[in-house]
Amino acid sequence: MAHIYDTIIIGGGPAGLSAGLYAARSKMDTLLIEKGKYGGQTATTAELENYPGSMEECTGPGLIERMRKQAEEFGTEFVKDEIVEVELEGNVKVVKGVKETYYAKTIIIATGAYPRLAGFEKEMELRGRGVSYCATCDADFFTELDVAVIGGGDSALDEAIYLTKFAESVTIIHRRDQFRAAKSIVEKAQANPKINFIYDSVVVEAKGDEILEGLVLKNVKTGELSDLTVDGCFVFVGYLPITELFKGKIELTERGDIITDVEMRCSIPGVFAAGDVRDKSLRQVITAASDGAIAATTAEKYIEANEHLYAKELVLS
Ligand code: NAP
Repeated sequence: MAHIYDTIIIGGGPAGLSAGLYAARSKMDTLLIEKGKYGGQTATTAELENYPGSMEECTGPGLIERMRKQAEEFGTEFVKDEIVEVELEGNVKVVKGVKETYYAKTIIIATGAYPRLAGFEKEMELRGRGVSYCATCDADFFTELDVAVIGGGDSALDEAIYLTKFAESVTIIHRRDQFRAAKSIVEKAQANPKINFIYDSVVVEAKGDEILEGLVLKNVKTGELSDLTVDGCFVFVGYLPITELFKGKIELTERGDIITDVEMRCSIPGVFAAGDVRDKSLRQVITAASDGAIAATTAEKYIEANEHLYAKELVLS
């Protein structure tokens, strides 16, 4: 008979690792499955200054490795596999990987999200060298420097306002002349003397080899090219949750974020979600870790309340 875990955590970023720590520490039989590198977006963060206690030389990969070890020391089992299908409806959940099929009483989905790329030349080469996707993480590096923000949604305008606390100037580059962002946020940004606006324009290229030195812009109406000298470029053209596997199986928002209640419960009993994959407003390492802790604790209570279901299931199988 196949082994049935108390919980399977899908995804090894801060949310998944925190769920692993809390689940294993409360003696749940816990498996964490990750397809690539542990850490998700945090693994690409050079310096972490805003996670409580992460003062000296705290790198994203360093923090992730400590989180992973801690979860492992409490008994979380780790497997590298790519999940291709999930069956969430029954009392025993089925998680099919490329290598193996896994079974559990509960599932914690912590597959994360990824920032959409703006699509300009050298965007990837200069990522972490002046091109950033997280103002909360990197704003401090641009203190008294000039930065650009690409995008016209709530994230772009909110983050541009945040960046003015650090940067000398913030230039918002938007591909239209109307913002998608809420009017109140647009008005707040327009009233900020440190924020400049360039409308109807897209970034076509980043300049610089080792470090960002500037941007080449194209006016989408006239086709005219122009240079903008900046030290930093923050891209906020939307985030995409990694939820392809769960479409049609659990309740998602229109964008694809997983809808949970405050205890991280999804629309199907025994299925929980944590971290950036969830519909939420603040996507940070600390909120991912918090979600993971809550999801594991709720999963434990769920198993306690439903133990009789598994006894029946095991007799039948
Ligand atoms: P979003 O609402 O999808 O906006 C993305 C912005 O990027 C749009 O203005 C879009 O332009 C632009 N864009 C997309 N692709 C582009 C490209 N390749 N080059 C240049 N510009 C491009 O994404 P978001 O701002 O990250 O927000 C996501 C969700 O979170 C939204 O529902 C938002 O309301 C919510 N959110 C809310 C708050 C808040 O309430 N304070 C804060 C952050 C996020 P177009 O407008 O021309 O399509």
